Amino acid sequence: MIVDVHTHVWPNNSVFFGDFLAQASRMRSQPLDLISRYDDYCATAPGVTAAICFGGKAKLAGLWVDDVDVAAYVQQDPARLIGFLSIDPTQPRWQEELEFGHQELGLRGIKLMPMYAGFFPQEARLNFLWDYAQRHGLPVLLHTGTTFVSQGWLETTLPRHIDVVARRFPEVRIIMAHLAHPYEGECVAVIRKHPHVYADVSALHYRPWQLFHSLMLVQEYGVWHKLLFGTDFPITSVTESLAGLRDLANIQIDRFHLPIEQIEALIERDALALLGLTQ
Ligand SMILES: [Zn+2]
Repeated sequence: MIVDVHTHVWPNNSVFFGDFLAQASRMRSQPLDLISRYDDYCATAPGVTAAICFGGKAKLAGLWVDDVDVAAYVQQDPARLIGFLSIDPTQPRWQEELEFGHQELGLRGIKLMPMYAGFFPQEARLNFLWDYAQRHGLPVLLHTGTTFVSQGWLETTLPRHIDVVARRFPEVRIIMAHLAHPYEGECVAVIRKHPHVYADVSALHYRPWQLFHSLMLVQEYGVWHKLLFGTDFPITSVTESLAGLRDLANIQIDRFHLPIEQIEALIERDALALLGLTQ
């Protein structure tokens, strides 16, 4: 089984506004098509059992995907797609959007973008969200790690903030996206100490030196079991991500190398069971 815990629903260019697209060209050193087409995903996703998908809301950065669009995307393949809702707590009525996305649209988790929207995950105003997630068993995936957006608040993305949340709400299943690059050392410290805090490896394989180094930290701290597979589609694909991860096992630097068995176990990990999403 392969579970992709990180895919985006960007139905058309109207979800981007301000200077988001202009700044997105910094993401990779090539032009990007950011529209999510499920047919494209399927064409490069052999063997994927389930894919978590979400839109994202961050007024500050210039991104806003209505959760209705996420629910419609899920309807293309409800047996395989699991939709997460998004909220931006700097904007009014986010509590209603949270309840609507969960109770009316049937979305099964929450995506947060603290750095893109300009808030800290442990702020008091977020207690409503964390308490709601804990009571209803909704996993929460947060963007952690750096960004290309100039107006983003880098200081809000540090994994140490998730340590505060996990101490207060220890039953919430939390995923820190992108191993919080380039703060992987701090990310590893947080996922090691909290049983229900995980990290995904999405969108990292195209920096092989950095990912090799990060996974050596994972190896040395003994937290392979806390890593989940993800892509960041449409930025990259399942086949590219799998090839990039497996290729890391070919690196040997002095006595340091990554065991292919751990990489394969990461790829095959049953993230749905760990996140309480099997029903
Ligand atoms: Zn992403």
